[in-house]
Formats: sequence, structure tokens, C-alpha cells
Amino acid sequence: MSKNKFETDAIRTQLERSQFQEHTTPMYLTSSFVFEDAEEMRASFTEEKDRNIYSRFSNPNTTEFVDKVIQMEEAEDGYAFATGMAAVFSTFAALLSSGDHIVSARSVFGSTHTLFTKYFPKWNIETSYFDINNPAEIEALIQPSTKILYAESPTNPSVDIIDLELLGDIAKKHNLLLVIDNCFATPYIQQPIKFGADLVIHSATKLMDGQGRVLGGVVVGKSDLVREIYLFSRNTGPALSPFNAWVLSKSLETLAVRVDKHCENALKIAEFLENHSAVSKVKYPFLKSHPQFKIAKKQMKLGGNIIAIEVKGGLEAGKKFLNAIKMCSLSANLGDTRTIVTHPASTTHSKLSNEEQLAAGITPGLVRVSVGLEHVSDVIQDIDQALTS
Ligand SMILES: *Cc1c(COP(=O)(O)O)cnc(C)c1O
Repeated sequence: MSKNKFETDAIRTQLERSQFQEHTTPMYLTSSFVFEDAEEMRASFTEEKDRNIYSRFSNPNTTEFVDKVIQMEEAEDGYAFATGMAAVFSTFAALLSSGDHIVSARSVFGSTHTLFTKYFPKWNIETSYFDINNPAEIEALIQPSTKILYAESPTNPSVDIIDLELLGDIAKKHNLLLVIDNCFATPYIQQPIKFGADLVIHSATKLMDGQGRVLGGVVVGKSDLVREIYLFSRNTGPALSPFNAWVLSKSLETLAVRVDKHCENALKIAEFLENHSAVSKVKYPFLKSHPQFKIAKKQMKLGGNIIAIEVKGGLEAGKKFLNAIKMCSLSANLGDTRTIVTHPASTTHSKLSNEEQLAAGITPGLVRVSVGLEHVSDVIQDIDQALTS
């Protein structure tokens, strides 16, 4: 579908100009659209005519944003959501029925895990989990009722990698839908459809916006599946706002240059930390020491902006590190221009028992760094002084 290179389509894909001949796309903050006559209205509602009706269904700004993501992922169709979680929930809710079964990696985004454990069972949809580092477990979990195979790569917060081609082969062999949350990689680094994914989900809140401003989500993939998700969403109402779509479409214009720099900085910081005496382990996909370095190199163009480190001294050392940070932000977001450090064991995951933490890949000294776009030497200096303080 894409006719130019990634960067060019990200910039040059735009709506037709209005009567004002604007250079960049204006905002269409309108809840609804008008019709010439009864016949046009009838044709629009029966979908004989493809046009905007109401911004819960579609809006020009949303269309522009989605069109860019479709091109970036080399997908057939897509739909945009108010948040990444709305995209995740609507995908499952649209495609599954009571009695269906999901096979998912255990280490998925926290709220996605909560959907699987707390909400889907209410509708008789059960999930079985495999260890992201042991894909040989997957086939034994598949039941006659299994419909969806689900994973993220790289994972949060432990930056594990799973072989997408292997997942694609398993999904094909067992006639499952392969759904990949590609948020950590972005389509600039990794395109899961090439490895057999049927649908790709993004939290656009992260690197797609990349500047910590808006929430958004998007699903792209096979058109018959996207159609089901669209019809479900058109009636249930999780649509992305036109304003956020306008922001996100602008953000995508700079996705490639931003992600290039994020990854360049992240690799330098990972290399620095690998030789640091206060750090016992560094996990970054493009370090040779990463257990799945070869798979990462096969399916990713760059290593991403997330680094997982293990500080020596466990829980107390992790807490001390966080408290000694001066410039970097302590925040729940990631994929921002600002470098963000988190210590899951003492913050986001502190309510879990030690066993539960370990099952989620969270060791006591695990620190996650979401590398931003500040000058890399300033970030290294801040992390170094916090580690040695
Ligand atoms: C943040 C995130 C989500 C949820 O996205 P929101 O926009 O916060 O709703 C889903 N998956 C992954 C991997 C994420 O990092």
C-alpha cells in the first residue's frame, strides 16, 4: 500500500486540502457532518457511500492518523481509540464470544493482565499463560476453544524478546489469530505483520506521541477483523478524539528521527551501565549479552528505548537509586522526550508478593529506564551519580 519510504509517507500522507489551501492538516473539531439531502443520508448510513457521518464512527483527523499507521505497519485497515487499553479491550471484546480461550504471554502490560484475570472470566473467556522465555510451552496450552495468541515484544518491564516468526508459525498451524502489542518497538523498528500477526495494537500514548501530551490507541491488520472491531467500537464508543488524532498525526511525522535518537541514546547508556560497578545486570535487546540478541537482530531494526538494569543490593538499593535521581523523571509513563526511571518492586508492583513479582519478571533491584532525547551525557551523569551516591 505504501508508495514511498517510511519517513516520507509519515509526512506526506494527508487529507485533501480545504478551500484555504493550508499546508498542514487543520483540526476538524466537529461532532457530526451534514448531508445534502435524504438520499445522501440514506446511502451513507447503509454504507453505500464512504464518508464521515459522526465522529464516534470516523473523523478526518482520525482517518489521517490511522492511514499513517496502516502504511507504517503495512496493514490493510485500522481503527483508532481514546487509549491503548481501549484498543486492547475492544479487540478482544469484538472478536471473542463466551467460551473462547486466549493463550497469552504472562508478562504483558498490567491492565491487559487485569482484563484477562478479572474481567474476561465474567464473560466466560479464560486465558492460559506461557513464559515469554519458554515458547516451547505454547502448543501444550492450546485448546479447541483457543481463538487468540497474544504477546508483546519487547516486554515491560523486563525487556524480554520473543520470536515473532515462531508465534506466527504456531498461530498458522493451529488456526489462531495472532495479536501483537507492538507499543515498545513502534512500526519503525518492528512490523509484526511481516512475521504472521493478524492484528497489531499500539498505545499511541507512548513513542507514537513521544512527547507525553495525549493518550491514544490504534489497531491495524486484516480488513475483515478490523471491520468487526470497527462495528463493535462504532456502537460502544471508545473513539479517539479529533484533537488527539491531530496531535498524534503530527507526532508521527517525526517518529523515525525521534526513535533513531532514542535508540542511539539507549544503546550508549546500556553500554555504559554494562560496565558499572553498582549494576549486576543490564538487559537491552541490542547488547550482545541479551539472551535473545539474535532474535532481536532478526526482527528489530533498532534496540528500542527501554533498558532494564539490576542494581546491586536489591530492594533497598533500588529505592535509594530512585531517591537519588536529580534530573530524570519518576513517572508512570514511558517513551517520552524526558528520560524516566522506575523501580517496580518498591512502586507500581509493591503490592504483589515476592513470588508474584518474580513471576512477572520483577526482581527486587530491577530498575527500568525509558531513555529520552536529552543529551546522552547528561542522562548518563544523572544515572551515574544516583548509582554511586
Ligand atoms: C501503556 C501501554 C498500554 C496501554 O496504553 P494506554 O494508552 O495507557 O491505555 C498497553 N500496552 C503497552 C505495552 C503499554 O506500554
